[in-house]
Amino acid sequence: MIITKTKARQVLDSRGNPTVEVEINGFTAIAPSGASTGLLEVKELRDERKSFGGKSVYKAVENALRAGFLAEGKNFPSLDSFDRFLKELNEKKTLGGNTTIALSMAFCKAYASNQGVSLSEFIAHNSFGAQRLPCPAANLINGGMHADNGLSVQEHMVLPLKTKSFSEAVQCVVETRMELKKMLEKKKLSTLVGDEGGFAPKIKTTREALSLIQKSLEKTGWEDKAFLGLDCAASSFYKKGKYVFQGKKLSKDGLLKELLKLAKEFNLKYVEDPFFEKDFSAYKELNQETMVVGDDLTVTNSELIEKAVGSISGVIIKPNQIGYVSDAIKAGKTARKNNITLTTSHRSGDSEDSFISDFATGVKAELFKLGAPCRGERTSKYNELLRIEERGTPYFHY
Ligand code: PEP
Ligand code: MG
Repeated sequence: MIITKTKARQVLDSRGNPTVEVEINGFTAIAPSGASTGLLEVKELRDERKSFGGKSVYKAVENALRAGFLAEGKNFPSLDSFDRFLKELNEKKTLGGNTTIALSMAFCKAYASNQGVSLSEFIAHNSFGAQRLPCPAANLINGGMHADNGLSVQEHMVLPLKTKSFSEAVQCVVETRMELKKMLEKKKLSTLVGDEGGFAPKIKTTREALSLIQKSLEKTGWEDKAFLGLDCAASSFYKKGKYVFQGKKLSKDGLLKELLKLAKEFNLKYVEDPFFEKDFSAYKELNQETMVVGDDLTVTNSELIEKAVGSISGVIIKPNQIGYVSDAIKAGKTARKNNITLTTSHRSGDSEDSFISDFATGVKAELFKLGAPCRGERTSKYNELLRIEERGTPYFHY
């Protein structure tokens, strides 16, 4: 495909922070942005000037404009060739991960259209061939760095693993959320939402959060089709060698004990980042008991995924952690080769761009973290998957 016209601009993400939007041949893409970021993620470029609280991205936009200018008139026969071109420009890693990912995502959209295929089909052609809709992992109670309620654990999720279609999974998540809202109201707890659209009530423990979601599942009759899961994002409460967990300072073994109790009590099928992101052996211990998923541990990096074999049985794939769509696909391939389950994921700072829904379907991810079905930047992901389902795309089977 020949790139004929490129543009870039500063727009806003769901937290109201500036982010990069790129346009290639009329197709736009917006870089998402994390809060509980891994130490080894590619770095976003922010201006760190007085304006926009230091968060403006004018330099990143300038970099995207320059890359676009150099790409115009050139023929790129594949995603790999375009990402290679970007990597050459980014030799000194000065462009910013937000710049490169927005360019790479916009290229995918333009190229797919140029080939007359859907975006998810294009991603499938570049990864495992066929498409498949993922099971949602819906974050119904927010904590950690995504809310100010004091809950240590970042995400309390519902995974409707035994549903037969994506739309049935959506019904499960929505009805459970509606019931949860009623329960919170009855307890005079806040129903205001956190960064990922889940409720952020001032409750003290993850046990209480899981128990509220479990009761909502039972009340709505979905308990046989859905399971519970957590993203601890434990690096965010790891301080000076200890875990500051629900008001207590715990050792690794202390936290392991707590998590094992929760896993047993609530039959948890998914526990993401249960320990500090450099402690591969602690992940391994819990992985023998339940499905442990690496996020900050592996940051969509193929080499770290190889290193984590045995420590995890699932992995998060977030294209902006690695900066290029082709490298995110490569990370997915590395995981599959090692029998590791794929969970694609949005970021806590996201936008109306639903690229990640097409990506999840294209790489046949088993699971997809997409927040609660609330707030436009989250529903845009659900809604894109509903459209993809309408095209007859098969759904994940547990
Ligand atoms: C996560 O930790 O899985 C997540 C989606 O949050 P963030 O985008 O803040 O890293
Ligand atoms: Mg995570």
